[in-house]
Amino acid sequence: TRVLLTGGSGFIAAHVLESLLTRGHSVVTTVRSQEKADKIKQAYPDLGKDKLDFAIVEDIAQEGAFDKAVISDPPFESVIHTASPFHFNITDTKKDLLDPAINGTTGILKAIKKSAPSVKHVVITSSFAAILNGAKLPNWPEHTYTEEDWNPITEEQALINPAEGYRASKTFAERAAWDFVRDEKPNFTISTVNPPMVFGPVVHYLNTLDSLNTSNQRIRDFAQGKAKNGLPNSGVYLWIDVRDLALVHVRQIEVPEAQGKRFFATAGYFSNKEIADAIRNNFPEYKDNLPAADAPGDGDYPNGSTESLHKYDNSRTVKLLDIKFRTIEESVVDLVKSLKAAGL
Ligand code: NDP
Repeated sequence: TRVLLTGGSGFIAAHVLESLLTRGHSVVTTVRSQEKADKIKQAYPDLGKDKLDFAIVEDIAQEGAFDKAVISDPPFESVIHTASPFHFNITDTKKDLLDPAINGTTGILKAIKKSAPSVKHVVITSSFAAILNGAKLPNWPEHTYTEEDWNPITEEQALINPAEGYRASKTFAERAAWDFVRDEKPNFTISTVNPPMVFGPVVHYLNTLDSLNTSNQRIRDFAQGKAKNGLPNSGVYLWIDVRDLALVHVRQIEVPEAQGKRFFATAGYFSNKEIADAIRNNFPEYKDNLPAADAPGDGDYPNGSTESLHKYDNSRTVKLLDIKFRTIEESVVDLVKSLKAAGL
């Protein structure tokens, strides 16, 4: 299949790209600069020789940003839209988070409708942020999160702080996508991927320790000793490995039954204590940077068990897309190895 992948320089997108190429698809990926395109191209001397190309899209928030990128010869059959800001280092919630998330999503759908009639299916990277109810996190044991749930966040709540701004950006962007399909009745179907915290190895050609993507930062920080005096609480207690998540994206363009659906893609619960244990047990060189295995702190599950947490239902992802999940230990070990290669 000929696929357009947006945001190819991102943590998750880099793995989606690898998965697409490994599975024989031909890919054009958007990046913000020629320099990033060159780095990615160099990483695929064989696999990418005839099957990897680039389109420069500097800012997805701009009107018409994707108008050129959606046109290709041979034409695209599928699009995977992952590009969206995920960091809390912002000055203006609307300009820095909401606009690129929402305009980026509606912008690519409009461009496809206008200029890429061959596209049959569009996969959009949404988030558990568009599912969860912030007021109820994490102790809501009587509730099971499924693809039916929507974050009830409002435009006012989006401005409370950058974390709420990010959650709102994902919620509003995903809603805008489903509304677009309902109102515009385009020639293509969409489906969304809604992962919680994503951990796992970073590709060497794009990352430095300082420019690490947001979700992996806690693991770097723990190894560097930033939680030596006590682990912080985990915040969200659900996760997925980035390689499993990449496959969730690619399977959605391969499995016709995936069309028109949301996918709550999670491997299950994790805690910061499990992350610290995985680092301590596998990398003795960081032992002194971590609290002792039995030290007090908030890193464990509330009251030491998952009993008081909300439940989750990932059965659609498991059954329809045939996904098996890596363990948190494997994910942490592979991330730390990749960070060591980057100088940790
Ligand atoms: P990254 O920060 O690594 O990737 C974000 C990508 O989006 C980068 O390629 C970035 O380009 C691009 N991007 C951001 N803003 C713009 C813009 N204005 N114009 C053009 N490109 C832009 O994060 P992840 O890989 O973690 O995130 C990818 C997707 O997954 C996002 O949609 C995110 O919301 C979602 N997600 C991530 C989770 C996680 O835990 N990591 C959890 C749930 C969802 P550049 O690097 O050049 O700025």
